[in-house]
Amino acid sequence: MADLKAHLGARIAAQGPITLSDYMSECLLHPQFGYYATRDPFGAAGDFTTAPEISQMFGEMVGLSLAQAWHDQGAPGHFVLAEAGPGRGTLMADILRVGRAVPGFVEAAELHLVEASATLRARQRALLGDAVRWHDDIDGLPEGAPLFLVANEFFDALPIRQFQRDGAGWRERLVRFEDGQLGFGLGAEIAPDMLAHRLEDTAEGQVVEVCPAAAPIAEAIGQRIAADGGAALIIDYGDWRSLGDTLQALAAHRFVDPFDDPGNADLTAHVDFEALAGATPSAHSKLTPQGIFLERLGITARAQALAARLDGAALEAHVAAHRRLTHPGEMGNLFKVLALFPHGATPPPGCET
Ligand code: SAH
Repeated sequence: MADLKAHLGARIAAQGPITLSDYMSECLLHPQFGYYATRDPFGAAGDFTTAPEISQMFGEMVGLSLAQAWHDQGAPGHFVLAEAGPGRGTLMADILRVGRAVPGFVEAAELHLVEASATLRARQRALLGDAVRWHDDIDGLPEGAPLFLVANEFFDALPIRQFQRDGAGWRERLVRFEDGQLGFGLGAEIAPDMLAHRLEDTAEGQVVEVCPAAAPIAEAIGQRIAADGGAALIIDYGDWRSLGDTLQALAAHRFVDPFDDPGNADLTAHVDFEALAGATPSAHSKLTPQGIFLERLGITARAQALAARLDGAALEAHVAAHRRLTHPGEMGNLFKVLALFPHGATPPPGCET
């Protein structure tokens, strides 16, 4: 098999058009050709940049929030410190560095990472060492100890399905292969229960998205937190309820056609936070814009303290990074934070109920 396009063409020829979710799974995680399976996509030389890669301040604020939540819950002497989709491991390294300033926090933490890509696991091991335990999925995380977890730009990488409104029902947008080209077609008319609540807020021809993997993951995280204590910070781009086609493909920091070069572009979609909040058996916060979350935790004071040691180009880059993380016109409003925590506990700092 030459490449992912040939593999997908053969699969579609054999079984007919596939769901967008199957297409995304193949593009992102195919063991030989998948996007995350084959590369480190981050940074200036890669395809996109994430908040922890922009500035250490992001991970410091996340770490302070988690460490304070740990303290507020009685500073348990043994807990699981976990991250879903850790990328290069930068965010966890920043959390651990700031966590060392909180007596007992790092000593009580047992480190667990949920990561599907072998390439990125190797990078995480290089940065964080061998004391980490890796899992293929959330269900691998231990139970029976408090769980403090962060997931930044993890849920947006999970495959979605898309449905287009047609009268009182829907047609699924399916990926087909014709004349050597991948593209969308429409499936038969259906009326699935999971879309019943979207008949109220959609019009003919509009597209809604469902991420089948997201709710079970939120449920598994929330179930551990409700039973054993802990907190989760889920940070991603998206909104309370998504409407329309939000699938996007990025390569070399540019938007590209998601069907152009399968396996070589990052594919993501907006996160539907309502679906996560609805699935967790724990308590959850209001959806908080990232800029407000970071301001509440004191990012501006931290930025000023760091700025005092910088000048010239380094100072300019630092000021730009602070702006990029917090400004409503940049990542400050597009990205949101949802916190999960036990019923009756205080929400992690930066989030409120
Ligand atoms: N949190 C990091 C990386 C975000 S990119 C940051 O902010 O920089 C998405 C991450 O999730 C990558 O590490 C990717 O390999 C991982 N990932 C994507 N889909 C996954 C899945 N289904 N299961 C586990 N990890 C996944």
